[in-house]
Amino acid sequence: MSSMAKEFDVAIAGAGPAGTSAAIRLALNGARVLLLEEKKFPRAKLCGEFISPECIGHFQQLGVLDQMLSAGANALRETVFYSARGHQVAVPSEWFTSGANALGLSRSEMDQRLLERARTLGVAVLEGSHAAGLVIKNDCVCGVQVKTFTGANEFRARLTIDATGRTRALARHFDREAQRRSSKGKRGLVAFKAHLENTRVAPGACEIYFYGGGYGGLSEIEHGLSNLCFIVSSSDVRRLGSDPDRVLREVVMRNSRAAKTLEQARLSSPWLSVALEGFGRRLLTPANGLLTVGDAASFIDPFTGSGMLMALESGQVVADTIASQLGSAGAAQTVELIAKEYEREYIRRFDSRLRVSGLLRRAAFVPHLAEAAILIFGASAHLRRKLARATRRANNSQSHASIG
Ligand SMILES: Cc1cc2nc3c(=O)[nH]c(=O)nc-3n(C[C@H](O)[C@H](O)[C@H](O)COP(=O)(O)OP(=O)(O)OC[C@H]3O[C@@H](n4cnc5c(N)ncnc54)[C@H](O)[C@@H]3O)c2cc1C
Repeated sequence: MSSMAKEFDVAIAGAGPAGTSAAIRLALNGARVLLLEEKKFPRAKLCGEFISPECIGHFQQLGVLDQMLSAGANALRETVFYSARGHQVAVPSEWFTSGANALGLSRSEMDQRLLERARTLGVAVLEGSHAAGLVIKNDCVCGVQVKTFTGANEFRARLTIDATGRTRALARHFDREAQRRSSKGKRGLVAFKAHLENTRVAPGACEIYFYGGGYGGLSEIEHGLSNLCFIVSSSDVRRLGSDPDRVLREVVMRNSRAAKTLEQARLSSPWLSVALEGFGRRLLTPANGLLTVGDAASFIDPFTGSGMLMALESGQVVADTIASQLGSAGAAQTVELIAKEYEREYIRRFDSRLRVSGLLRRAAFVPHLAEAAILIFGASAHLRRKLARATRRANNSQSHASIG
């Protein structure tokens, strides 16, 4: 590490889809970029691994679509929502992007390919490097402090991006009060994920199961495996001795469809679990010189299957905003201008989808409301299509490939 540059245009903490999307786009615009990731890739990640069809356009722009397909990404034609009692309603993938399917691919494969692309474009990638703090001068963030197994280091950058996901490892230093207020009254939720063999999920479908206190998703990924990811109340987890197998059998499989598709399934990976603290938008520019993207900016409800899309897209918004201003003189004003412009564009693009999914969340966790919503939306394809699209922004200006 000692021989590498210490000064960058942009330092990015976190190499999930938001961080790599921003890094690749900034590098393509000629910026000097540092990308810090605390884990060594490839690594497993808790996620439904449903890559919504709009992501394909992003993969094309980022130059990784062929790599995703050759990693064995599975085409997903539709998402089918099942109420606890077995009523169902389907949402075809092509409602989001004409002629395109969604993809099922593990996060270890997807994130690794995005990281490799960033490296190829000259981004200074440091894995096993924990962004531990910020360098602050005259009330402005001007770099990041890094800890590795071998020691500590400091890097300077005109702008720093927190892409560390829901933990907001850097931004959270500035929003303790806001966080405390917003976490009041939040229900305690825990998410689990594992890869399974021998499920009976319908080929080409992402199946979503509702049950008391949460919901789960099952879909095929690469090599014939299925990804199962579900959310349950923390009180259920405690009651069942924090045993994921019991939670699966006694909570998730109360959904009649889940009972059928998971009856003969076998684990092919260890369980991952994480506590979920809340949904919605957070501070986008918590300090001068510090911007947030992806889940660090907002956490959208997983049943929308659009968190990775928001990560890739917010990475695009931040990179476009920075790239349009990087050459300007007057460092302090430029940093402020970038922050204002980024907030404006972010809110324009994402606030309404966050609002719609927030409304849907009320039904998602209450079985009789989920049942009623499935019956109502099941009766009208027109209504269903409108609602599904309201959880995304229809972006007709991007070019999209069709994956068969
Ligand atoms: C239960 C559940 C199911 C989901 N299912 C889906 C789905 O099916 N489809 C979908 O589109 N979205 C889904 N999502 C949402 C999706 O996982 C996220 O929206 C997406 O991962 C956000 O990407 P990101 O890059 O912002 O953050 P992340 O993917 O969380 O990446 C952050 C990266 O930062 C690294 N990091 C963290 N702290 C530090 C630090 N201090 N220093 C350096 N690096 C650090 C982490 O190791 C990680 O690699 C789901 C989420 C949950 C909770």
